[in-house]
Amino acid sequence: MPKSTPRFFVDPACITRTGKRVRLSARDQVAQLTKVLRAKLGDKIICLDGTGAAFECAIESISAKQVDATILAECKLESDPLVKVCLALPLLKGGRFEWALEKACEIGVASVIPVNFEHSVVRVEDGSDGKAESKVNRWQTILREASEQCERATIPQIVSPTSFNQLLKNSPADATIVCAERQKVPRLLDVIHGWKMASVVPMYILLVVGPEGGLSQSEMSAASEAKADLVSLGPRILRSETAAIFALSQIISAIGDHH
Ligand code: SAM
Repeated sequence: MPKSTPRFFVDPACITRTGKRVRLSARDQVAQLTKVLRAKLGDKIICLDGTGAAFECAIESISAKQVDATILAECKLESDPLVKVCLALPLLKGGRFEWALEKACEIGVASVIPVNFEHSVVRVEDGSDGKAESKVNRWQTILREASEQCERATIPQIVSPTSFNQLLKNSPADATIVCAERQKVPRLLDVIHGWKMASVVPMYILLVVGPEGGLSQSEMSAASEAKADLVSLGPRILRSETAAIFALSQIISAIGDHH
Protein backbone atom coordinates (compact mmCIF):
# COMPACT_ATOMS: atom_id res chain seq x y z
CA MET A 1 0.00 0.00 0.00
CA PRO A 2 1.34 3.47 -0.84
CA LYS A 3 2.78 5.42 2.08
CA SER A 4 0.99 8.44 3.56
CA THR A 5 -2.17 7.91 1.50
CA PRO A 6 -5.14 9.08 3.61
CA ARG A 7 -6.75 6.18 5.48
CA PHE A 8 -10.35 5.76 6.54
CA PHE A 9 -12.10 3.03 8.49
CA VAL A 10 -15.45 2.48 6.83
CA ASP A 11 -18.48 0.41 7.71
CA PRO A 12 -17.98 -2.98 5.96
CA ALA A 13 -21.55 -2.61 4.63
CA CYS A 14 -20.28 0.34 2.54
CA ILE A 15 -17.67 -1.82 0.80
CA THR A 16 -18.93 -3.76 -2.24
CA ARG A 17 -16.16 -6.16 -3.19
CA THR A 18 -18.00 -7.56 -6.24
CA GLY A 19 -18.85 -4.10 -7.60
CA LYS A 20 -15.40 -2.82 -6.53
CA ARG A 21 -16.86 0.26 -4.83
CA VAL A 22 -16.62 1.97 -1.46
CA ARG A 23 -18.89 4.73 -0.17
CA LEU A 24 -17.75 7.09 2.59
CA SER A 25 -20.65 8.90 4.21
CA ALA A 26 -19.53 9.60 7.81
CA ARG A 27 -19.75 13.36 8.23
CA ASP A 28 -16.25 13.80 9.67
CA GLN A 29 -14.66 11.66 6.96
CA VAL A 30 -16.44 13.51 4.13
CA ALA A 31 -15.39 16.84 5.72
CA GLN A 32 -11.82 15.59 6.09
CA LEU A 33 -11.70 14.63 2.41
CA THR A 34 -13.49 17.66 0.97
CA LYS A 35 -12.48 20.51 3.30
CA VAL A 36 -9.15 19.49 4.83
CA LEU A 37 -7.54 17.38 2.10
CA ARG A 38 -9.43 19.09 -0.76
CA ALA A 39 -9.68 15.74 -2.52
CA LYS A 40 -10.12 15.64 -6.29
CA LEU A 41 -11.51 12.98 -8.61
CA GLY A 42 -8.88 10.28 -9.14
CA ASP A 43 -7.11 10.90 -5.81
CA LYS A 44 -6.05 7.73 -4.00
CA ILE A 45 -7.33 6.78 -0.55
CA ILE A 46 -7.10 3.62 1.52
CA CYS A 47 -10.29 2.23 3.04
CA LEU A 48 -10.15 -0.26 5.90
CA ASP A 49 -12.95 -2.56 6.96
CA GLY A 50 -11.74 -2.86 10.57
CA THR A 51 -11.02 -6.59 10.33
CA GLY A 52 -7.64 -6.32 8.61
CA ALA A 53 -8.65 -5.86 4.96
CA ALA A 54 -7.32 -2.73 3.25
CA PHE A 55 -8.56 -1.41 -0.09
CA GLU A 56 -6.58 0.98 -2.25
CA CYS A 57 -9.19 3.17 -3.96
CA ALA A 58 -9.50 6.03 -6.44
CA ILE A 59 -12.13 8.70 -5.80
CA GLU A 60 -14.79 8.73 -8.50
CA SER A 61 -17.40 11.14 -7.19
CA ILE A 62 -17.59 13.78 -4.47
CA SER A 63 -20.69 15.44 -3.02
CA ALA A 64 -21.40 17.32 0.21
CA LYS A 65 -22.76 14.14 1.83
CA GLN A 66 -20.67 11.31 0.43
CA VAL A 67 -17.56 10.29 -1.44
CA ASP A 68 -17.58 7.25 -3.74
CA ALA A 69 -14.44 5.44 -4.73
CA THR A 70 -13.44 2.52 -6.97
CA ILE A 71 -11.40 -0.32 -5.47
CA LEU A 72 -8.08 -0.74 -7.29
CA ALA A 73 -6.41 -3.32 -5.03
CA GLU A 74 -7.01 -5.24 -1.82
CA CYS A 75 -4.53 -6.55 0.72
CA LYS A 76 -4.43 -7.98 4.25
CA LEU A 77 -2.72 -5.81 6.88
CA GLU A 78 -0.55 -7.37 9.58
CA SER A 79 0.08 -4.27 11.66
CA ASP A 80 -1.84 -5.40 14.75
CA PRO A 81 0.00 -7.30 17.50
CA LEU A 82 -0.33 -11.07 17.83
CA VAL A 83 -1.00 -10.76 21.54
CA LYS A 84 -4.27 -9.10 22.54
CA VAL A 85 -3.91 -6.71 25.46
CA CYS A 86 -7.00 -5.29 27.10
CA LEU A 87 -6.02 -2.22 29.15
CA ALA A 88 -8.08 -1.50 32.27
CA LEU A 89 -7.44 2.11 33.16
CA PRO A 90 -8.94 4.63 35.61
CA LEU A 91 -10.49 7.84 34.30
CA LEU A 92 -7.99 10.63 34.87
CA LYS A 93 -7.98 14.39 35.29
CA GLY A 94 -7.21 16.98 32.61
CA GLY A 95 -7.10 15.06 29.35
CA ARG A 96 -4.68 12.42 30.64
CA PHE A 97 -7.10 9.54 30.00
CA GLU A 98 -7.56 10.59 26.38
CA TRP A 99 -3.80 11.02 25.96
CA ALA A 100 -3.33 7.46 27.26
CA LEU A 101 -6.02 6.16 24.88
CA GLU A 102 -4.28 7.61 21.84
CA LYS A 103 -0.83 6.34 22.86
CA ALA A 104 -2.11 2.88 23.84
CA CYS A 105 -3.80 2.64 20.44
CA GLU A 106 -0.56 3.49 18.63
CA ILE A 107 1.38 0.92 20.64
CA GLY A 108 -1.15 -1.79 19.84
CA VAL A 109 -3.75 -2.17 22.60
CA ALA A 110 -6.65 -4.43 21.55
CA SER A 111 -9.30 -2.90 23.81
CA VAL A 112 -9.70 -0.49 26.70
CA ILE A 113 -11.96 -0.76 29.75
CA PRO A 114 -12.34 2.41 31.86
CA VAL A 115 -12.61 1.43 35.53
CA ASN A 116 -14.22 3.26 38.46
CA PHE A 117 -11.81 2.14 41.20
CA GLU A 118 -12.56 2.72 44.90
CA HIS A 119 -9.91 5.46 44.99
CA SER A 120 -10.72 6.95 41.57
CA VAL A 121 -10.79 10.74 41.59
CA VAL A 122 -12.69 10.99 38.29
CA ARG A 123 -15.73 8.72 37.83
CA VAL A 124 -18.32 8.22 35.10
CA GLU A 125 -21.19 5.92 36.02
CA ASP A 126 -23.05 3.98 33.32
CA GLY A 127 -26.43 5.58 34.06
CA SER A 128 -29.49 6.73 32.16
CA ASP A 129 -28.24 10.33 31.75
CA GLY A 130 -26.38 9.44 28.52
CA LYS A 131 -23.10 10.81 29.91
CA ALA A 132 -21.27 7.49 29.70
CA GLU A 133 -22.60 6.86 26.20
CA SER A 134 -21.43 10.23 24.87
CA LYS A 135 -18.01 9.71 26.51
CA VAL A 136 -17.70 6.26 24.93
CA ASN A 137 -18.58 7.73 21.51
CA ARG A 138 -15.91 10.41 21.92
CA TRP A 139 -13.31 7.85 23.06
CA GLN A 140 -14.18 5.55 20.13
CA THR A 141 -13.61 8.46 17.72
CA ILE A 142 -10.20 9.15 19.32
CA LEU A 143 -9.32 5.47 18.88
CA ARG A 144 -10.49 5.42 15.26
CA GLU A 145 -8.49 8.52 14.36
CA ALA A 146 -5.39 7.21 16.15
CA SER A 147 -5.78 3.87 14.33
CA GLU A 148 -5.97 5.64 10.96
CA GLN A 149 -2.94 7.76 11.78
CA CYS A 150 -0.74 4.88 12.98
CA GLU A 151 -1.82 2.52 10.16
CA ARG A 152 -3.40 -0.15 12.29
CA ALA A 153 -5.58 -2.84 10.77
CA THR A 154 -8.28 -2.66 13.45
CA ILE A 155 -9.74 -0.11 15.86
CA PRO A 156 -9.44 -0.94 19.58
CA GLN A 157 -12.82 -1.24 21.25
CA ILE A 158 -13.80 0.72 24.35
CA VAL A 159 -16.79 0.16 26.61
CA SER A 160 -18.60 2.07 29.37
CA PRO A 161 -16.80 2.39 32.70
CA THR A 162 -17.16 -0.57 35.03
CA SER A 163 -16.17 -1.46 38.60
CA PHE A 164 -13.00 -3.41 39.39
CA ASN A 165 -14.99 -6.41 40.62
CA GLN A 166 -17.09 -6.55 37.44
CA LEU A 167 -13.89 -6.24 35.40
CA LEU A 168 -12.36 -9.31 37.05
CA LYS A 169 -15.62 -11.26 36.94
CA ASN A 170 -16.27 -10.70 33.21
CA SER A 171 -12.71 -10.93 31.90
CA PRO A 172 -12.14 -13.57 29.22
CA ALA A 173 -8.35 -13.03 29.33
CA ASP A 174 -5.86 -15.91 29.70
CA ALA A 175 -3.77 -13.89 32.17
CA THR A 176 -4.31 -10.81 34.33
CA ILE A 177 -1.47 -8.44 35.16
CA VAL A 178 -2.05 -5.88 37.93
CA CYS A 179 0.55 -3.11 38.23
CA ALA A 180 1.22 -2.74 41.96
CA GLU A 181 3.57 -0.05 43.25
CA ARG A 182 5.46 -0.21 46.58
CA GLN A 183 5.13 -4.02 46.82
CA LYS A 184 7.64 -6.85 46.86
CA VAL A 185 6.39 -8.41 43.62
CA PRO A 186 8.24 -9.53 40.45
CA ARG A 187 9.01 -7.04 37.71
CA LEU A 188 6.70 -7.22 34.68
CA LEU A 189 9.59 -8.19 32.39
CA ASP A 190 10.50 -11.08 34.70
CA VAL A 191 6.93 -12.36 34.62
CA ILE A 192 6.96 -12.25 30.81
CA HIS A 193 10.35 -13.99 30.79
CA GLY A 194 8.90 -16.72 33.06
CA TRP A 195 6.02 -17.25 30.62
CA LYS A 196 8.46 -17.57 27.73
CA MET A 197 10.72 -20.02 29.57
CA ALA A 198 7.72 -22.20 30.48
CA SER A 199 6.25 -21.81 26.95
CA VAL A 200 2.99 -20.55 28.41
CA VAL A 201 2.80 -17.13 26.80
CA PRO A 202 -0.83 -15.96 27.04
CA MET A 203 -2.38 -14.59 23.87
CA TYR A 204 -5.00 -12.50 25.66
CA ILE A 205 -3.83 -10.38 28.59
CA LEU A 206 -5.82 -8.09 30.88
CA LEU A 207 -3.47 -5.30 32.01
CA VAL A 208 -4.73 -3.35 35.05
CA VAL A 209 -3.37 0.04 36.09
CA GLY A 210 -4.70 1.74 39.21
CA PRO A 211 -5.84 5.33 39.86
CA GLU A 212 -3.95 8.26 41.41
CA GLY A 213 -4.78 6.90 44.85
CA GLY A 214 -3.69 3.35 43.98
CA LEU A 215 -5.74 0.16 44.38
CA SER A 216 -7.62 -0.32 47.67
CA GLN A 217 -6.91 -3.23 50.03
CA SER A 218 -10.08 -5.00 48.93
CA GLU A 219 -9.23 -4.52 45.23
CA MET A 220 -5.77 -5.98 45.89
CA SER A 221 -7.37 -8.98 47.64
CA ALA A 222 -9.83 -9.44 44.75
CA ALA A 223 -6.90 -9.38 42.30
CA SER A 224 -5.05 -12.03 44.30
CA GLU A 225 -8.19 -14.19 44.54
CA ALA A 226 -8.60 -13.91 40.77
CA LYS A 227 -5.02 -15.28 40.46
CA ALA A 228 -3.76 -12.09 38.85
CA ASP A 229 -0.01 -11.56 38.58
CA LEU A 230 0.90 -8.49 40.66
CA VAL A 231 3.88 -6.80 39.01
CA SER A 232 6.30 -3.98 39.67
CA LEU A 233 7.27 -1.41 37.05
CA GLY A 234 10.36 -0.41 39.01
CA PRO A 235 11.28 1.73 42.00
CA ARG A 236 9.74 5.00 40.81
CA ILE A 237 6.06 5.77 41.25
CA LEU A 238 4.61 6.48 37.82
CA ARG A 239 1.44 8.37 37.05
CA SER A 240 -1.34 6.05 35.92
CA GLU A 241 -1.05 7.00 32.24
CA THR A 242 2.74 6.59 32.30
CA ALA A 243 2.40 3.20 34.01
CA ALA A 244 -0.12 2.11 31.34
CA ILE A 245 2.09 3.10 28.41
CA PHE A 246 5.26 1.71 30.03
CA ALA A 247 3.67 -1.66 30.83
CA LEU A 248 1.90 -1.96 27.47
CA SER A 249 5.15 -1.18 25.62
CA GLN A 250 6.98 -3.89 27.53
CA ILE A 251 4.32 -6.51 26.76
CA ILE A 252 3.99 -5.64 23.08
CA SER A 253 7.74 -5.46 22.51
CA ALA A 254 8.41 -8.71 24.35
CA ILE A 255 5.63 -10.86 22.89
CA GLY A 256 3.43 -8.74 20.63
CA ASP A 257 4.55 -8.16 17.10
CA HIS A 258 4.95 -10.19 13.91
CA HIS A 259 8.38 -8.66 13.24
N1 SAM B 1 -1.01 6.70 45.24
C1 SAM B 1 -0.06 5.68 44.99
C2 SAM B 1 1.12 5.81 45.93
O1 SAM B 1 1.54 6.93 46.11
O2 SAM B 1 1.59 4.80 46.39
C3 SAM B 1 0.45 5.78 43.56
C4 SAM B 1 -0.50 5.34 42.54
S1 SAM B 1 0.20 5.45 40.91
C5 SAM B 1 0.18 7.17 40.66
C6 SAM B 1 -1.07 4.90 39.86
C7 SAM B 1 -1.00 3.46 39.40
O3 SAM B 1 0.10 3.29 38.51
C8 SAM B 1 -0.81 2.44 40.48
O4 SAM B 1 -2.03 2.06 41.08
C9 SAM B 1 -0.17 1.28 39.72
O5 SAM B 1 -1.14 0.49 39.08
C10 SAM B 1 0.66 1.99 38.66
N2 SAM B 1 2.06 2.19 39.07
C11 SAM B 1 2.71 3.35 39.20
N3 SAM B 1 3.99 3.16 39.51
C12 SAM B 1 4.18 1.82 39.57
C13 SAM B 1 5.29 0.99 39.85
N4 SAM B 1 6.49 1.49 40.11
N5 SAM B 1 5.11 -0.35 39.82
C14 SAM B 1 3.90 -0.88 39.56
N6 SAM B 1 2.81 -0.14 39.29
C15 SAM B 1 2.93 1.19 39.29
